[in-house]
Amino acid sequence: MARTVSGGMPVGFHYTPGVGNTAFFEALRDRGVLLGSHCRSCDHTYLPARIFCERCFGALEFDTECGPGGTLESFTVGHVGIDGEPLDQPVALGLVKLDGADTVLMHRLIGDGPWEIGARVGAVIRAGRNGSILDLEGFRSA
Ligand SMILES: [Zn+2]
Repeated sequence: MARTVSGGMPVGFHYTPGVGNTAFFEALRDRGVLLGSHCRSCDHTYLPARIFCERCFGALEFDTECGPGGTLESFTVGHVGIDGEPLDQPVALGLVKLDGADTVLMHRLIGDGPWEIGARVGAVIRAGRNGSILDLEGFRSA
């Protein structure tokens, strides 16, 4: 049985997304696209965009639009909230490898499922965007 200790911790912060993630969020906000970086030396595409290749440390550009289609690589379905309360509706989260990317992106799965590893999904991008990860509503079965 999981044990928890209840309490509060006031924490304020400013998240700095960095250069690559800023390019990703701006492309999502301004153009409604999912922007990655392709390393020509390694033939590997990162999503979100990165400033360097984690394999060869070469400098990268923000040059590769991925998706909006992709493949569900893994998923989980949550039935309780972070405080242990039962949820009215289960929440599904998936790891999606968007077409053109070699990395996965985690986000909500929209719809009732059932979900299956290897299933085709599509990105659902909101009409009114403000440059956050929530501009991507999630992924729906395609
Ligand atoms: Zn590389």
